[in-house]
Amino acid sequence: MTRTDRVQARLVEAGLDLLLVTDLINLRYLSGFTGSNGLCVVGPGVRRFVTDFRYVEQAAAEVAGFDRERAPAEFLAALADGWAPGPLRLGFEDHKLTVRQHARVRELLPDHVELVAGGSLVERERVVKEDVELEAIAAAAVLADEALEAAIAPGLKGRTEREVALSFEDAVRARGAAPAFATIVAAGANGALPHATPGDEPISAGVLVTIDFGAQLDGYNSDCTRTYACGEVGGELRELYELVRRAQAAGLAAVRPGPEGREVDAVAREVIADGGHGEHFGHGLGHGVGLEVHEAPRLATTGRDALQAGNVVTVEPGVYVPGVGGVRIEDLVVVTEDGGRVLSRHAKELTTLD
Ligand code: ZN
Ligand code: ZN
Repeated sequence: MTRTDRVQARLVEAGLDLLLVTDLINLRYLSGFTGSNGLCVVGPGVRRFVTDFRYVEQAAAEVAGFDRERAPAEFLAALADGWAPGPLRLGFEDHKLTVRQHARVRELLPDHVELVAGGSLVERERVVKEDVELEAIAAAAVLADEALEAAIAPGLKGRTEREVALSFEDAVRARGAAPAFATIVAAGANGALPHATPGDEPISAGVLVTIDFGAQLDGYNSDCTRTYACGEVGGELRELYELVRRAQAAGLAAVRPGPEGREVDAVAREVIADGGHGEHFGHGLGHGVGLEVHEAPRLATTGRDALQAGNVVTVEPGVYVPGVGGVRIEDLVVVTEDGGRVLSRHAKELTTLD
């Protein structure tokens, strides 16, 4: 079964005849198309792919298994015809289509095509990765690990957060990939901001430095965080580090098919709460990673999806103490039949860099 066949199998339970896919990531997942404008319509006997003039040749090279069309000058007007007769329920991606686009599509569709909120049918297929996807994510993770090694090789002291972030991103690009997201390098008190923006102050000795980094290769992302000691750090920071390391190990050990995301989250959260820092861990334990850096399933207090073999998730507890600093340790993990396989390779003992 192709990916599109599997999505089609979900149409019946969703009460739909057809699905309109407008989200470019979902479109890429189903069709292989990597351009910036396109849509597809899928259902029994229907595999329509539409793009505009700019991408006709690219689509011919990338998109297999679809009937390809070139859109008219108004892109969405492609949906004005091409429909089978009789009443049709056409699902759309209600979490992606804008209100304006929805109104225009409704105007353009013939009356016998009913436009129905279709939910995240493609995303639900994307949570379980195929081997080829797991290989792509693993390759991105290896590349990011190598780039980080290059970025921290000269040490951290006296360099700015921005310099370290840039040297990571340069190393990623030099290896033929792109940064998966804006790299976070957060030293000292900045480490208490989970999503700090790298700044221009030289990093001094005696602080913890959190680096959250990832690479995107062939469309697939990696995501990893390590926290380093710059020079000798005091006992309070070491204790924070060890607490997060224990919580991260507990979270990793809880990864396997079966438990809901919130159950895995709870395992790590309890370790941090027992250490007296429950209020300093304000985000979820982790998230799915694939064609997007943040996707389903969520490991969070609200995560209701049960983990399945083939999921790829992060396990990233953190403790953020205002004015003192922060620690986050994040691994990328493949959920296997009987546990988890960690893709991140950097050491998790507190490593001191000069
Ligand atoms: Zn991250
Ligand atoms: Zn993450």
